[in-house]
Parts: sequence; structure tokens; C-alpha cells
Amino acid sequence: MSLPVPAVLEPGGDAVTVLYIVAFSMFIIGIRRGTHPRTAKHGNLLAAGGMAVAVIATLLLDGIGNWGLIVLGLAIGGSIGVIASIRVQMTQMPQMVALYNGVGGGAVALIAWSELRHGLALGGDFPLDELVPILFAVVVGSISFWGSNIAFAKLQDLIPTRPLMLPGQQVLNAVLLIGILAACIALGIDHDDAPSEGLFIAVLIAAGLLGNLVVLPIGGADMPVVIALLNAFTGLSAAAAGFALDNVALIVAGTLVGSSGTILTLAMATAMNRSVANILFAGFGGGPAGGAAARGEERPHTSIGAQDAAIKLAYADSVVIVPGYGLAVAQAQHAVKEMADELEKRGVTVNYAIHPVAGRMPGHMNVLLAEADVPYEKLREMEDINPELPRTDVAVVIGANDVTNPAAKNDPDSPIAGMPIIEVDEAQQVIVIKRSLSPGFAGIDNDLFYEENTDMLFADAKQAAAEIAAEVQEL
Ligand code: NDP
Repeated sequence: MSLPVPAVLEPGGDAVTVLYIVAFSMFIIGIRRGTHPRTAKHGNLLAAGGMAVAVIATLLLDGIGNWGLIVLGLAIGGSIGVIASIRVQMTQMPQMVALYNGVGGGAVALIAWSELRHGLALGGDFPLDELVPILFAVVVGSISFWGSNIAFAKLQDLIPTRPLMLPGQQVLNAVLLIGILAACIALGIDHDDAPSEGLFIAVLIAAGLLGNLVVLPIGGADMPVVIALLNAFTGLSAAAAGFALDNVALIVAGTLVGSSGTILTLAMATAMNRSVANILFAGFGGGPAGGAAARGEERPHTSIGAQDAAIKLAYADSVVIVPGYGLAVAQAQHAVKEMADELEKRGVTVNYAIHPVAGRMPGHMNVLLAEADVPYEKLREMEDINPELPRTDVAVVIGANDVTNPAAKNDPDSPIAGMPIIEVDEAQQVIVIKRSLSPGFAGIDNDLFYEENTDMLFADAKQAAAEIAAEVQEL
């Protein structure tokens, strides 16, 4: 007795299915490898390769034609993608992701529309199991497209980054949402007749309006979380489109994007100790800057120059560098690496403490420091480095603020109360490099600056790190 051979393995069998399985494996292994800085680059290439395999497999499907249009689309999209990726600055990465995510959501909404037209052209009963995913894809895809565009515009400073709220906006949002749901139900009831294309287009437009209105009131600095959430939306809408098209590749890829976007959103919210609802609806980060410095008050603090900082660092046994958003703004990663190299030449042990939401996007500090060839094993996660800080001679905070603010653990009324921080206040000495006493993203004063063991070095991060490196060399 011989076992039946699966159709996909038969000569001339379903090569597309085999290619899809190869692509899915590449996606999953790629995402897995993306979880560590050492393997992330390879993981990214692998997942991109998986997408190329999935695209090729899809082009091999029966019924694919109009090759002129397909080649033109690939050429235009590919060229824009390559040029944009080469030109984009590291600090502009969040808006680039927003744009790409938005395009994905928009494509899904248009596919859903085209599927509706296709179904209508066939005439007769429009099966509910096709119509429901089409409606889900058009609503969520359209919200994602417009919401991502607003996120892009805020991050690119094309519109004000502060929360923008129209009068009666909550009511307007509720009316739009109820209207969209009612229209979708009406379209579903009509499925055995011909669902109205006009009503469908109204749903597409209303969902787009809702996408704009939901993202406009969110502060610019919260955009990375919003982008992660919209990314999850795009994934789910793509998966829904996959059900409508009966395309397993879209279902799997969309579900992977949907689930990883959701996990990322929750991880970022946890690291800020805020709920996703608070991020979406509280208009955080949009108020006027707070803190003593913003009120023009001077609290006593100690200020030092690069030479003093160099002496403290050069004669330490252990130094922990805590990078933050200011390091990205100043593009100080290479200068900081040179400073660390000079210290290590003198036998100082140097490590970097990485807070999960330091900077303005997940992995921001890892990416910048990797660019400067800082060895991965020196990048220590918050939970790992915190217990070592009491034994650390000098903690150097470079362009970081909120992620080191002891108010998070000491002041239950602080807006960042409960947010896990890098506990630099526990180190023997602290040097904070930033340009002023101004607050960071959360808009609140940082008690760290006024503690007895803290010295402030007021300067641009890149310039200060270069000066300290030069001073250490002279010692
Ligand atoms: P912060 O925003 O708290 O502080 C950054 C500091 O950098 C500022 O106080 C500023 O002070 C300083 N700075 C700016 N430019 C320079 C420069 N050229 N040289 C030196 N210093 C400079 O940053 P953190 O990284 O500490 O914290 C990140 C914040 O962003 C957290 O509140 C987090 O919740 C939030 N966030 C993070 C996201 C993420 O995914 N990483 C996403 C969304 C929000 P000064 O002007 O005095 O120089």
C-alpha cells in the first residue's frame, strides 16, 4: 500500500503553495531574528526576501494578467522605496514607517473596493462570507491610511504636533462610528440583492474622516505608539482582504503584522506605564512645558565643564552611559563611542543602559549605537543594568531626561508615576549632558538634576562628548 502524495509535492503540482510556505517560514524566522540587535539586520533581509518570494508566487497564480501595469507598478513603487530608504535620516524613521504603513492600509481599502465591484459585476447573490471581510478591510484600511498620513504630517512638522481638537469632536467621532456600523449592516442585509456601491463609497470616506479625527488630537511625540497601533490595523485589514480574495499569503502576512503591531503597541505603552486608551485620548505631551526651568525658576544645581567631566570619568572604574532622545537630535553616537573608546583605553569599564522607550521610537538607541559600532554586548537592558548602578562610579546621562526621572518611583502624583526608569540616581556620581534644565517629552521637571551627586554639563551632546574625549586623551 502506498501513501497518497500531497498535491503540492506532485510533479507539476501546486508550486505556488510551496512558495507561499517558504515565504511564511522566512517571515516567521525573520521576525524571530529581529528580536536581537545582532541578528536583526539578517532577520529584516530574510523577511524582505520572504515578501519577494510571496510576490513572485502571487504573480504565478492563474488569472494574473495585465503585465504592463504590474511591471509599471513595481518599477514606480520600487524606485520610490529605494530612493526614500537611502535618503531618510535615522531621526525621520518613524514618519517613514507611518507613510509605508498608510500606503498599505490604503491599498487594502482599494482592493476591497475593487473586490466589491468584481462581485457586483458577476451579479446575483453576494456571499456574506466575502462581503463581511470586504467591509472590514475597507473600514480599517481607510482609517489606517488617513490616520497614518496625519501621523506622518505631525512627525514631519507639516501640521502642528500639539493635540488638535475640534469643538464637539467626541460626538462627531461617535456619530461617524455609528454611521459606519449602520451602513455596513445595511450593506450586509442587502447581500442577496446588489449591495449599493454608493453606500460603500460613503463608508470608505467616513472611515477616512474618522482616521483623521482620531489621530489629530494625539500629541506628536505619542505618534510612534499610534503608528504601531495603525500598523496592527493595516495587518488586520490585509488579513480580512486575504479572506475576501481567498489568498492565504495575505491572511498569514496580515495576521503576522496585526499581531506584532499589537504586541509592539502594548510593549511601548507598558514601558511608559500608560494605557493605550490614555495614549489615544489624553492629549499627552501637548501642554505647555512644565517644571521649574519652564517657569523661569532656578533650583540649586551644580554645573561643570568638559574638563571636570573628563577627570571624573577617566579616574572611574566603571561608567554607565544612558543615551536618550537628545543623543539622536545631536547625532552624537559616533562622538560618544569615541569618548567611550578613550575611557576604555585607560581601563575604565563602559556599558550603555538602554531604556525601552528612550528616544522617540522602539529600538531608537540600539539603532543609533549600532551605527557607531558599539558592541551589542555593551548595550544593557534596563532590568539588567539597574541592579549594577549602585556599584557604578559614574553614570553619564546623554540627552536623556524622562527615562531617568526619579519622580517616576518617588512621586505618586507625577504624570510618569510608575514608569520604570534607569535608576541613575543610585550611582555614586551622575553627569547629565544636555543644553539646559528644560523638561523632556513628558514636560516635567527632573529632580535628578538637583541631587547632590549630580553634575550638569550644559552643552550639545555631540560637542560635549567630543570635548570630553579630547580632554581624556590629554590626561
Ligand atoms: P526626553 O524627551 O525625556 O528628553 C530628551 C532631552 O534631550 C531633552 O530634555 C533635551 O534637553 C535634550 N536634548 C535635546 N537636544 C539635545 C542636544 N542637541 N544635545 C543634548 N541634549 C539634547 O527623552 P528620553 O529619551 O529621556 O525619553 C523619551 C520620552 O519619549 C519618554 O517620555 C517616552 O515615554 C517618550 N516616547 C518614547 C517613544 C519611543 O518609542 N521611544 C515613543 C513615544 C514617546 P535640552 O533641551 O535641555 O537639551
